[in-house]
Amino acid sequence: MANKKVVVCGAGFGGMEAISYLKYKLKDKVDITLISDKDYFLFKPNTIYIPFGKDPKDLMFQFLDSAKRLGVQFHKASVEGVDPSKQRVYADGKYFEYDYLILAMGAKMKPEEVDGLGEYANTIWTPQEMLKLRDSINRLVEDTKGGKHREVLFLVPPNNKCSGPLYEIVFMLDTYLRKKGVRDKVNITYSTYEKTFIQAFGPRLHQVVTSEFERRKITGYNEYVVDKVESNQVKYRNGKSLPFDVLISFPPYYASTYLQGLRSDERGFISTKTPTRQLVDYPNIYAVGDIGDFPVKQAFLALLQGDAVAEHIYSDIEKKEFVAEFIPTSMCIMEQFDKATFAQVPLQLTGDPQRPVEVRQSDIDQYKVGSSKIWRLGKKLLGMYLPWRFKNCKPFHAGPAWKTMEVGLKVMMKVLAS
Ligand SMILES: Cc1cc2nc3c(=O)[nH]c(=O)nc-3n(C[C@H](O)[C@H](O)[C@H](O)COP(=O)(O)OP(=O)(O)OC[C@H]3O[C@@H](n4cnc5c(N)ncnc54)[C@H](O)[C@@H]3O)c2cc1C
Repeated sequence: MANKKVVVCGAGFGGMEAISYLKYKLKDKVDITLISDKDYFLFKPNTIYIPFGKDPKDLMFQFLDSAKRLGVQFHKASVEGVDPSKQRVYADGKYFEYDYLILAMGAKMKPEEVDGLGEYANTIWTPQEMLKLRDSINRLVEDTKGGKHREVLFLVPPNNKCSGPLYEIVFMLDTYLRKKGVRDKVNITYSTYEKTFIQAFGPRLHQVVTSEFERRKITGYNEYVVDKVESNQVKYRNGKSLPFDVLISFPPYYASTYLQGLRSDERGFISTKTPTRQLVDYPNIYAVGDIGDFPVKQAFLALLQGDAVAEHIYSDIEKKEFVAEFIPTSMCIMEQFDKATFAQVPLQLTGDPQRPVEVRQSDIDQYKVGSSKIWRLGKKLLGMYLPWRFKNCKPFHAGPAWKTMEVGLKVMMKVLAS
């Protein structure tokens, strides 16, 4: 019998993990084609270091040689559409036939959804935007060294689906300005539409952020919903306004690619069955990572989803029972430069659009948070381990290398988180 054809769209966290895990489980029993508009993997979480000097090239990893060696066909092309009735995906005018299709093309930003945001804010998403932020921070330091006082305002608008990195940048900026000896010349304010800080991660992260804001003399505002951005102030729907010389924001999210004919929400996020990531209408199409409808968009969740999809396809091909559902547990390490905060958060969907996830009470013992200088080492290790795995088309979550990482992580959690 001919091998089944799996087409994977997008070479990010979800796509690379799904491919690598499939290869790990099925070896040569499956034909894999990868279509992506970039021929490298970008380690997006570490782009937070670019504004503070990191070279973006150090975060872009080539995987083509290993993919070729493993027999994965790669096409650099932009996916435009899917025809589920013909089992074809269209990219740059060509089509590719599939038995199983994995959509993992991620998200994009829509700053224009907020009046003035695109014009006046430093936004964070691409390495180019991070380089522009670096220029703004350099100018800020120069201005303050010249004796000026400056206002820096952070803004999380509604429909941003991953506010964590903006919290990292506010803490990193505070530490950075202290090291430069100009912190006393800069007033830092943080405003978010969220009811609590990093709302998705529950009450314990809110506590950590609140006490960090106090320690660092950062003024934080919750439930500040932006109305519009003007050249030197943000106006909020509660009638308040906050001034800025430098505005730093993480804009509202949209699906990277709108695929006509596939059921999605108003932002293009594809409707799935949560445990398997199968599309609600087409069981042989899957959505993994930011492009799917899971309301929190995170690399770690994209990896878990990639694993679940690979396991599901493996079970289908090998006629085995599927036992590896996607159970959403978020994990992150928040950089702060002087220390880092680790969080592992078991999540569950609520059905409430204002508060789409909450901490899963049935696994409350897995809800772990801890801050320490040593967690910075953990972040560094992850920043080396994951790109190394993907460069070699190996899954994050499998094999002896992962077992070693897992043991290390468990020890660190035991000692440094509670
Ligand atoms: C600054 C920043 C910091 C972050 N920090 C963290 C963190 O600490 N921890 C964490 O868990 N998450 C973090 N995230 C979120 C995380 O990066 C994303 O959730 C993750 O990248 C999603 O993975 P993905 O595979 O869905 O999409 P992506 O990683 O974005 O990959 C999508 C891929 O699809 C390709 N593509 C897009 N459109 C098309 C198309 N039409 N055709 C073909 N290819 C296409 C893209 O080029 C890319 O290769 C951070 C995000 C940012 C911006």
